[in-house]
Amino acid sequence: MATVLEENQWTVLSHRMSLRGRPSGSNTFIWSYKGSRYLVKRPEDGRPARRWSVRCPVCGKALTYSVYSVVATRRRRWRRWIAMWASIAIATSVWFIPVDQNSGDSVLFDVSFSAFCIAYVLLRLAINERGFVGHGATWGPWLVTPHRVEITNKDGSAAVGI
Ligand SMILES: [Zn+2]
Repeated sequence: MATVLEENQWTVLSHRMSLRGRPSGSNTFIWSYKGSRYLVKRPEDGRPARRWSVRCPVCGKALTYSVYSVVATRRRRWRRWIAMWASIAIATSVWFIPVDQNSGDSVLFDVSFSAFCIAYVLLRLAINERGFVGHGATWGPWLVTPHRVEITNKDGSAAVGI
């Protein structure tokens, strides 16, 4: 079940329990997190992001997040999708630029490769966009950050899709 963006958003703030990951297969590691659920009120649509301050229940660190409205979160997500497709268009279109065979096309390769890398980052950002910014909320499970914010459904089920 996909997680639904709601004005009253169930959220899990998690703390990474170890600095080093446990091996979980060939060349993969996992990190364990311990989290608590919170009900966070998003701003009304059309209103600027509001600040959500919370103290981590594990380490006691004060954390402040910017929380966007449902509509603003969808807009942020769509902007990332559009930017991702624009990067892919750039990455693929440079190969249609005629070049002199002797001059080398390494610049075109560099542009294309860079655009694909940027597209990949934008894809990850679009998938992980939850309308929360700060302290590991932006990157989701992609990066192993000390704190993580995930949104959940009311019944506590986690996000499977967007
Ligand atoms: Zn913590």
